[in-house]
Amino acid sequence: MSATCRGCGCTDERACDPPCWWAEPDLCSACATKLEAMQGQLDALVREGFLERRVNSLGNVLYRISDVGAHEMERQIQRERDQDIVDQYTDDLEAVNDALIEGLLR
Ligand SMILES: [Zn+2]
Ligand SMILES: [Zn+2]
Repeated sequence: MSATCRGCGCTDERACDPPCWWAEPDLCSACATKLEAMQGQLDALVREGFLERRVNSLGNVLYRISDVGAHEMERQIQRERDQDIVDQYTDDLEAVNDALIEGLLR
């Protein structure tokens, strides 16, 4: 039985380009690198106060916009008067959360 990457779906027969290897039994090196970078960015946002890090009952790490982050967003809306910025910010955060739950924590 051949393994499939839980991040990108690559297999031994259809590896990524450049070629990847197995960082974990079901996670290829390309995705493991991306995941690590993503977590580094999220942790930086936590340190800066923009996000809060939560662990839910299933042990999944979730990130939510902190009070500082929400306040900063509000200020940005007032400055820019542009709802798209907030939508984008929220979408990005949701996508990142989904990826983390999918990737890191199964
Ligand atoms: Zn992969
Ligand atoms: Zn791969």
